[in-house]
Amino acid sequence: MRRLTYSRNVFVPVTNLCRNRCGYCSFRREPGEGKLLSRSEVGRLLAEGGQAGCSEALFTLGEMPWMESGFAGLLSSVGASDFIEYLAELCEMALDEGLLPHTNAGVLSQEDLETLAPLNASLGLMLETTAHLEAHDSSPGKDPRLRLDFMARAGRLKIPFTTGILVGIGESRDDRIASLQKIAGLHQDFGHIQEVIIQPLDPKPKTALENYPPPGEDLMRQTVELARSILPSGVAVQVPPNLSDPLELARSGADDLGGISSITPDWINPSRPWPSLEDLSSRLKGYHLRERLPVYPAFILKGWYGERTEDVIRSLADGDGLRRKDYL
Ligand code: SF4
Repeated sequence: MRRLTYSRNVFVPVTNLCRNRCGYCSFRREPGEGKLLSRSEVGRLLAEGGQAGCSEALFTLGEMPWMESGFAGLLSSVGASDFIEYLAELCEMALDEGLLPHTNAGVLSQEDLETLAPLNASLGLMLETTAHLEAHDSSPGKDPRLRLDFMARAGRLKIPFTTGILVGIGESRDDRIASLQKIAGLHQDFGHIQEVIIQPLDPKPKTALENYPPPGEDLMRQTVELARSILPSGVAVQVPPNLSDPLELARSGADDLGGISSITPDWINPSRPWPSLEDLSSRLKGYHLRERLPVYPAFILKGWYGERTEDVIRSLADGDGLRRKDYL
């Protein structure tokens, strides 16, 4: 039986304010309508995550929210003056709860990256594409050079890293190949890419791409095959099982199903609930589902973790670097 891994997460949408305006996004809110979760709201989610047996606190947020008007007011309403310090505090809260933070905060300065690195088991940033597309015309942070540079800086700091591509946002097959080659090159240079998400566009009403056709099964299968052929074998190919048929994509070479939450929605694709593990087990005949942590075994075995995450990783991982089976 082939193994397919996944992690159990609690999804914490820290803030939906963002300096970008991507043509497919329904997560971001306009200034005045945005939200910043308070410590008590985050604390409640983390406690629920701990009780549900999660290992991962998935902190997701818009990029550089402080560039949006009104954000300073939101920050002072939670008693904070610096957003990255506040985010670091939320990561500490997760670790205190026995959960491993995995933060997707967009492109960060070197100083902010170095603040968050020791508090996270891994970090994430979707490359999405190396092409310059209309969907990103109003998103300065989606300049592929900025994103590749950020990932290289994370590599120099030996941060286990998750990235990915978005399929169906106007890019061509050559663009997908070029994006995957860039990611493979980063891994060859720094050895820090743990997984690459192959994420299909899920067109949302009232977004610029609402009438784009979502990529069909054939395109998704071909893209997973491309990824598997271009990426080094130590880099997992991840497919979100709430957005595409995981059985077909596992047969095409996918290794991982990503974070699955039984207690919180996928706030990026809220109309696409995650399937239950029971449902996935019965659909994925011939595959053995195995839980991992938000940092992959190879990095745990190499000791790629910070002082602050080490204790939690040691308490959650088994000798192979996967999730201990006796945790519940
Ligand atoms: S960067 Fe993320 S949160 Fe911001 S607009 Fe784009 S998809 Fe939405």
